Amino acid sequence: MKRAWRTDQVEISQHEAGLYVFKFNSEGEKQRVLDNGHWLFSNHLVILKPWTPNTPLHCYDFTTCAFWVQVFGLPLEMCTKSLIGKAVRHVGRVLDIKIENKDGTTLRAGRARVEIRLQEPLKTGKLIRLEGKNIWLDFCYERLSHYCYSCGKLGHYAMYCKDFPFDEEKMEGKDKMYYGQWLGAEVREHSPFWLTFYETQDKQEEAAEIIPETPQPSIQLIPIDHQRNSQNKEIMETIAK
Ligand SMILES: [Zn+2]
Repeated sequence: MKRAWRTDQVEISQHEAGLYVFKFNSEGEKQRVLDNGHWLFSNHLVILKPWTPNTPLHCYDFTTCAFWVQVFGLPLEMCTKSLIGKAVRHVGRVLDIKIENKDGTTLRAGRARVEIRLQEPLKTGKLIRLEGKNIWLDFCYERLSHYCYSCGKLGHYAMYCKDFPFDEEKMEGKDKMYYGQWLGAEVREHSPFWLTFYETQDKQEEAAEIIPETPQPSIQLIPIDHQRNSQNKEIMETIAK
């Protein structure tokens, strides 16, 4: 961790399995490390909590962790803190928002620092309605540690999942998976939801050009058959107003 934090001014001691105490030589160094958010150690999540006076170690709350979540897919003119905040509010408590350059060189609208409840599945994205149009937004998590591609929770792999037993056949077909490596920001891939959603949109627009009098079919909003997460049953929400 010293190398990652670029400091020698810290003492590290282990108190029990998985619980460590870091003592910094200065308040400034401590704050600099804390401001950089959570860290990974061998792809495991390192959650940092500042020392709280008069609090025994076992009373610290490690059930939440703040992540930077990148948001992709908003129209350029709508990349505002307000809209990004509304888009990610179902991910967790929003702590900070930064807007991306609006020069059109990236599909990334911005980043939001969100406090995530670790017992809940990660949220993969959101379908929103803006000015009468449906738009799919992809979410990507910075410094995402290993997580379960079966239930979407951090801290275990799919083969050890107690909520949804490991299904090897399903894991082999990326297009059948609800979770995958694309949720990590460093992977730089769109989700299958993004690909399917915009593919469907393109086909609808082509059909409309060829036979304009044909009524439009109702669109398939959720491309993958995965009804077990209640979050997705109410995934459509208007956030423009
Ligand atoms: Zn699981």
